[in-house]
Amino acid sequence: MCGIVGYIGTEQAAPIILDGLSKLEYRGYDSAGMAIFDGEKINTRKAVGRLKVLENLTRGGENMKGTSGIGHTRWATHGAPSDINSHPHMNNAGTIAVVHNGIIENYKELREELASTGCVFRSQTDTEVVAHLVARKYSQTKDLAEAVRLAAKKIDGAYALCVMHNDCKNKLVITKRNAPLLVGIGENELFAASDVPAII
Ligand code: GLU
Repeated sequence: MCGIVGYIGTEQAAPIILDGLSKLEYRGYDSAGMAIFDGEKINTRKAVGRLKVLENLTRGGENMKGTSGIGHTRWATHGAPSDINSHPHMNNAGTIAVVHNGIIENYKELREELASTGCVFRSQTDTEVVAHLVARKYSQTKDLAEAVRLAAKKIDGAYALCVMHNDCKNKLVITKRNAPLLVGIGENELFAASDVPAII
């Protein structure tokens, strides 16, 4: 299991997330990625390799503007380490971004069910089912927290999840089961992370 960092506040999120992910490198990983909300849409960058690759790709986070976002370092369990399998994962409309640590045990059944209703899968990961599942629940509820809650009910396994949506400015929805995820509360800012060093 590797690392998750989430940030909502008044500062530029990408450099903070990169810094937080660097504090989680000790957990081991094979790829890294970020999703940042620029005020209108979610932009993602992800790449296999060390965090340095993501840092170079984003110029230390400079070319991903926005004050909320999520970041991830991946230790592949389902699907080889690759750019496409790196997190974040999105739904087909590109409105929802998800990072996940852990394993979705019933992902095959969920994947088949979602594919039969038109979801097109881009990766080989277990995680991608969560993006499509949350999208389906969100289209019914129009409430991101409720959509994540309903999606989590359908998932078996261990997970720490951090989810964001284009429609929900300044909101991250997080949830966990048998995987660590902490919340840090600052002045005008909130953090989520897999371990304390990323918040300190
Ligand atoms: N099972 C997920 C994957 O293979 C997440 C692995 C992790 O904890 O980083 O992408």
